[in-house]
Amino acid sequence: METLDLTADVFVAGGGPAATWAALHAARDGADVVLADKGYCGTSGATAAAGTGVWYVPPDPAAREAAMESREELGGRLADRRWAARVLDETYERVNELAVAARFPFPVGPDGRQLRNGLHGPEYLRRMRALVRRAGVRILDHSPVTELLADPSGAVAGAAGYQRHGRQDYRVRAGAVVLATGGCAFLSKALGCDVNTGDGALFAAEAGADLSGMEFSNAYGIAPEGTSVTKTAFYHFATFFRADGSVLEGASGVRRSPIARELLRGKVYCRLDRADEQSRAAMRLAQPNFFLAFDRMGIDPFAEKFPITLIAEGTVRGTGGIRIVSDDCATTVPGLYAAGDAATRELICGGFTGGGSHNAAWAMSSGTWAGRGAARYARSLGSRAHGRRTLALGEAGLRPGGQLGGDHREVIAAIQREVLPYDKNYLRHGNVLTPALASLDDIWTRLRTSLGGTGELSVRTRQAAAMAAHARWMYRSALARTETRGMAKRLDFRSQDPAQQHRLHTGGLDTVWVRPERTVVEAVS
Ligand SMILES: Cc1cc2nc3c(=O)[nH]c(=O)nc-3n(C[C@H](O)[C@H](O)[C@H](O)COP(=O)(O)OP(=O)(O)OC[C@H]3O[C@@H](n4cnc5c(N)ncnc54)[C@H](O)[C@@H]3O)c2cc1C
Repeated sequence: METLDLTADVFVAGGGPAATWAALHAARDGADVVLADKGYCGTSGATAAAGTGVWYVPPDPAAREAAMESREELGGRLADRRWAARVLDETYERVNELAVAARFPFPVGPDGRQLRNGLHGPEYLRRMRALVRRAGVRILDHSPVTELLADPSGAVAGAAGYQRHGRQDYRVRAGAVVLATGGCAFLSKALGCDVNTGDGALFAAEAGADLSGMEFSNAYGIAPEGTSVTKTAFYHFATFFRADGSVLEGASGVRRSPIARELLRGKVYCRLDRADEQSRAAMRLAQPNFFLAFDRMGIDPFAEKFPITLIAEGTVRGTGGIRIVSDDCATTVPGLYAAGDAATRELICGGFTGGGSHNAAWAMSSGTWAGRGAARYARSLGSRAHGRRTLALGEAGLRPGGQLGGDHREVIAAIQREVLPYDKNYLRHGNVLTPALASLDDIWTRLRTSLGGTGELSVRTRQAAAMAAHARWMYRSALARTETRGMAKRLDFRSQDPAQQHRLHTGGLDTVWVRPERTVVEAVS
């Protein structure tokens, strides 16, 4: 079958909040934009299936100060106040734009004012799709990107992928590319994260970009057992119990280590009995989908105990991702921009996100900046933007170095055995991380030579390669941080080491490297 060949000024990979804000702003800046989503833009990704609290803080200096301070200690003092202030400004503007121009139906509080610090995911993404289409963006649904294209100088010059419904390969030659493919949740079945396999980070690394904060990648969300709904914030109202009915002390305030330890011994139960009537009503209003699973199971979570589990969310609610090097979210590679969970969020919350709405704010702000930056870059190329000779960059999982024969399902299961168990990835210890990394290196070597395919199979094999690359950057960085900072906790190094108050950059594919960024201490002092 023939390849679908397109050209654009800006190509956006992804279809969630970061991608749609990027596409919208690139188009508003005059760029001809193509956006390709692995799923259906408007229902795919971590936000569309859920709903998000948003870091929406009115421009009152005291409120802004408190907002910035709230995460600095938790994040291990790796955030940068200049970036936090930029994100607060941009998010305030974008959310108000949604309220006014897009008439977003924010819930109304008892005082009659709109509650703009939360967005119902399905409604949010439905409106973003409509805005993007109205701006003239061409959307390729169900069209996973499988690799980037570069010109002979190494600048990114487009992308290629596979259209599932037409069973056809496609290629888009573009002036600039925005990677907004979300984080990596290792196919753990966390709500909305089935598409989040870290593809963008693999593409970026193949183009020569690096990553930052990959040790802050072990987010685990609490979910009622047998469900995928990981809305952890509401568990602040919970009392946790052991299987024998005794209270699990130390877990309140959603402290996950005691929960993880107890889950290794047996079941853990929970009841949201600390929520008063007013909070219960507010919770239903803010996140109706949180209650769907309970309603279906016939459980009143405020009155009855229910069993819980922890589900890995990797970099979806971690802070690691592609390193960005300028205010417009450019990477180190010319023509390549990153936004949302695909990019590092250390700039605004250091080594810890969890609840608190930073990710949603980052997705809309970084998306906006990346879209504008990409449009500007494409414009600077003039007529050269689409006519460049291109080279396809995809390797692992696409063009194996040896005899084909690997099975992506076996590879994925092997990766999951190293990254999903909380006694390996949450309760981290050098004695456990070292053999896990050795096993992942081995998996990489094997998939590098034997995994590949075409069409739909290439999507699956690339997902396996992206997950393996993610896992190796994650554990190599976790081993390099010989202290406890942010969410990068080490059982063998339990305290914070002032000499390690720096970010860790990582990268490489066949050989993974990690090195400290030495400038952060000045940036936050
Ligand atoms: C249950 C849950 C609750 C959350 N609650 C909050 C909250 O309250 N506040 C908060 O700030 N954050 C929250 N988060 C995190 C938040 O959802 C994410 O930070 C946000 O969705 C990031 O947006 P994104 O556009 O970067 O990624 P996503 O929303 O994950 O979108 C990624 C998109 O990229 C597409 N894609 C992936 N790979 C490819 C490919 N190869 N080719 C083409 N397209 C691709 C996907 O189909 C998807 O459309 C929550 C996450 C979860 C899982």
